[in-house]
Amino acid sequence: MRQLVFEETGRYGWHEAPDPAITTADQALVRPLAVACCDLDVAVVDGRVPLTPGYAVGHEGVAEVVAVGDGVSTVGVGDRVVVPFQINCGKCHACRRGRTGSCTSVPLMAMYGMRPLAGLDGGGFMADLVSVPYADAMLVALPANLDPADLIAVASLSDNIPDAWRTVGPFKDDLFGLEPADRRVLVVGRSSIGLYAAAFAAALGAHVDYVDIDVQRLAVAEKFGASAHDRPKPAKEWDPYPVTVHTSADPSVLAAALRATWPDGVCTDTGIYYQPTVEMPLLSMYTRGVRFVTGRVNARAVIPEILGVLAAGCDLSPAVDRVVAWDDAASAWPAMTGKTVFART
Ligand SMILES: [Zn+2]
Ligand SMILES: [Zn+2]
Repeated sequence: MRQLVFEETGRYGWHEAPDPAITTADQALVRPLAVACCDLDVAVVDGRVPLTPGYAVGHEGVAEVVAVGDGVSTVGVGDRVVVPFQINCGKCHACRRGRTGSCTSVPLMAMYGMRPLAGLDGGGFMADLVSVPYADAMLVALPANLDPADLIAVASLSDNIPDAWRTVGPFKDDLFGLEPADRRVLVVGRSSIGLYAAAFAAALGAHVDYVDIDVQRLAVAEKFGASAHDRPKPAKEWDPYPVTVHTSADPSVLAAALRATWPDGVCTDTGIYYQPTVEMPLLSMYTRGVRFVTGRVNARAVIPEILGVLAAGCDLSPAVDRVVAWDDAASAWPAMTGKTVFART
């Protein structure tokens, strides 16, 4: 089979690799149909995250099941499925608790398409075939009536869309227990996750203030129903929010988002900080009882709930910056600047 490999800075190429085969009863083989770049893939392309080249890329995508082991019962050949980027067994204590990103049957950070960071590399989704070791636990079937445009809009359901959902979804009951005028969410965006967070918060009926430095993303946030702001106000001018979302991985912006979180409010940070320490305004947070959430998403656990939100009419397609033909991926991948989806025709 063919797979797209990160060869060296600025260069990606198609390489031949052996076809995976069914070797266990729990396994499935899937053929990716639409693969999205993760925000992290864009950061690797533009040099913000210097990963060592030499690995097969792609870890967000929807696929068609082409073969299943004897023990697989929840999906069958021909089904279209979301493939979570994290590999999880569905049976261990962590999986049973919904902590599917920390499955103890596989090494920590077992995932697809990011070998330098992975405890176990499942290979890249930019490939003709992908092996899914725990098909019943991992794969989530998509509605049969989705057309190709729908598949493109949800290709990020493996990772970035769940990462955005967990910044808002778990707090929706808190938010809607408030007086209507207080149902406000602040999203500090810098990538697709912030856009998806704005979309979910608006779809849930909150007023959303979206802050970013990128004109194009600001326009997308407005399409999602958010009020767009091209710079944060000075901290004392924000009317504080019960729910804040920070995605820029900039410590000074994080501090501003924390100060904009109201007493007993919650701030979720999806950023990855590679520096050993990050300053936080802990006295101000203590005084106001601000809850701070960091960490990796448990993608598989939240995908079914998100599919329900999408079925109720939340349209995430404006977040897709560019759709590229599958065969053009080698030249398009190193030129990505936003959410790019590679689609088989
Ligand atoms: Zn990712
Ligand atoms: Zn597990």
